[in-house]
This record gives sequence, C-alpha cells and structure tokens, in this order.
Amino acid sequence: SRLFQNAKFFTTVNHLKDLPDTPAEIAFVGRSNAGKSSAINTLCNHVRLAYVSKTPGRTQHINFFELASGAFLADLPGYGYAQVPEAVRAHWITLLGQYLQTRRQLIGLLLIMDARHPLKPADGQMLDFFAPTGKPVHILLSKADKLSKNEQIKTLSAVKQSLRARGQNATVQLFSSLKKQGIDEVEHTVSAWFAA
Ligand code: GDP
Repeated sequence: SRLFQNAKFFTTVNHLKDLPDTPAEIAFVGRSNAGKSSAINTLCNHVRLAYVSKTPGRTQHINFFELASGAFLADLPGYGYAQVPEAVRAHWITLLGQYLQTRRQLIGLLLIMDARHPLKPADGQMLDFFAPTGKPVHILLSKADKLSKNEQIKTLSAVKQSLRARGQNATVQLFSSLKKQGIDEVEHTVSAWFAA
C-alpha cells in the first residue's frame, strides 16, 4: 500500500483547539470496536501504529499520522460505546460534528462500520454532519471475513441501497484486516481524492 506506507505517528490531541496545522488530511471515524484501529494498521502495514483497544470507548483523543506524501491521517475517537455515560457520548458526538463540519484541510472521510452491524444511528449522524461539506465519504464494511461470500455481496448491496435511499452518495466496499481484503480499493479511492 504505497499511499499509507511509512506512515508515522505525529501527535495526539484532546481538544479541537489543539488540532495541528496540517496541509491536508483524511479522517477515520467509526463506532467503537468497528475495527478502525485494525484497518489503519493494516493499510499502513504496521502492527501497532493505531492502538487496538482493549477497553473500547476509553480512548477519546485524536491521533494524527503523517503519510509519506506529507498529507495526514486523523484517527478520531470511536463513538457509540454503551459503557460510556450518555453525557460523555453526546459531548464526543458534538466534537466530532464540529470537526467534520469545520475542518478546512479535511479532504475526505473514511467511515468504518462492522459489516455485521452497518449504518447504526450514530453512523448516520456522522454522514449527516459531513454531507453539507460536499466532501467525499468512503465506507469500509469491516471484518468482512466474519460473513460468507454470499452474505458479503448481500450486505454490500443493502448498504448501497440504504445510502441511496438516504440521498447519500458515499462509496462503499468490503474490508478485512484479518484477510487483508480490500486494501487496493481503499488506496485507489483515497489517492483519487488527493489527485482531485
Ligand atoms: P476500533 O475500536 O474500531 O479501533 O476496533 P479495533 O481495531 O480495536 O478492533 C476491535 C476488535 O475487532 C478487535 O478484537 C479486533 O481484533 C477485531 N477485528 C478488527 N478487524 C477485524 C477483521 O478484519 N476481522 C476480524 N475477524 N476481527 C477484526
């Protein structure tokens, strides 16, 4: 994976006011436990670049990684974890919304959803936050290895159908960190964003 190869940890921030002044960035969002950290590690071909959480929902900071091109990858905190108090969850959803709506150098969003539990309400909220920006969204249906080939095809088409019904023109693909499935497709999509 050339685009993500040699990604390096850059910084961690806990507040939006502390966001680094990057030239351009892509952001990864997803529900806690969706497989976001694993996807980042897989794409970057790095075992422990993003921390695979033992206590989901506890890591509420934004990690930045620098890509070889000089662009950045922002790993946003996972949302929707049931054990987190409602007030804390609502706070983070709001912060994510602010980031998605106002981050000027953000060029596109990668939304990670467990292929077995796609398009939960909080995922829809992220899409709704981001839609007014007109920037591209690419969805990874993660842990695809947990579904049979037939279920994968059905899920992919059902999610595409739901997005169309919602009026959202996000692109969608299957992905598995375990099987290293779908890496080229992510690369191809994100490279096109940077080339545009
Ligand atoms: P995050 O909270 O979204 O960052 O999710 P993690 O990357 O920490 O993954 C959550 C759990 O799902 C961990 O137990 C991972 O080992 C597992 N997981 C992540 N990706 C895959 C995958 O592609 N296939 C399978 N079978 N399990 C996965």
